[in-house]
Amino acid sequence: MSGITIALSKGRIFEETLPLLAAAGIVPAEDPEKSRKLIIGTNRDDVRVVIVRASDVPTYVQYGAADMGIAGKDVLLEHGGVGLYQPLDLNIAKCRMCVAAPAGFDYAAAVRQGARLRIATKYIAVAREHFAAKGVHVDLIKLYGSMELAPLAGLAEAIVDLVSSGSTLKANNLVEVEEIMSISSRLVVNQAALKVKRELLQPVIAAIEAAIR
Ligand code: ATP
Ligand code: MG
Repeated sequence: MSGITIALSKGRIFEETLPLLAAAGIVPAEDPEKSRKLIIGTNRDDVRVVIVRASDVPTYVQYGAADMGIAGKDVLLEHGGVGLYQPLDLNIAKCRMCVAAPAGFDYAAAVRQGARLRIATKYIAVAREHFAAKGVHVDLIKLYGSMELAPLAGLAEAIVDLVSSGSTLKANNLVEVEEIMSISSRLVVNQAALKVKRELLQPVIAAIEAAIR
């Protein structure tokens, strides 16, 4: 495929990405929230955008089906980053990865006593690493969404999830008991494409870099 294909997900990343693309002179022809199209042209004949699930962005870029993309650090850590060049932290879609538990649950005491905790999460790799580093034994339960429900339904004692305002936790009577890391979105580029299409990709990367400064 000649030209540039950029993998993006709908929602907050797309919205916050638009000004960065605009700074690089790239304007999508349609709003993916309104269109059902998964391949969207831009003002540039040689640039197109493909709309994929947030967690699929690294996969498209890894295999070169997209030359570049924008993905959260959360998603990149779960993916592993194989085949991806990650030149820029875009400082968008900022939130934090944290452990949350029901307001009445004494998480610190459970950890101190060496209780075997059940942790429900979409982020198995990050959670495994976090609890292993603390020497806390956990049973990790993989979920694909609505993590907040798990402690309420008795599936797990705590969850590992992304939090920004904390209002979803609050609405479900959960509290943040530990911050694991701060999260933002990164530009990812296929390593082979960066060499083969350098003269196309490098100006886009440079313009985005200038826009975030
Ligand atoms: P899907 O909804 O398709 O299952 P998703 O839930 O991962 O995927 P989004 O909710 O749009 O998709 O999240 C996309 C990215 O935005 C996440 O990978 C993360 O980096 C970031 N993000 C998620 N939640 C928040 C939040 N509360 N505040 C800011 N950024 C967030
Ligand atoms: Mg979502």
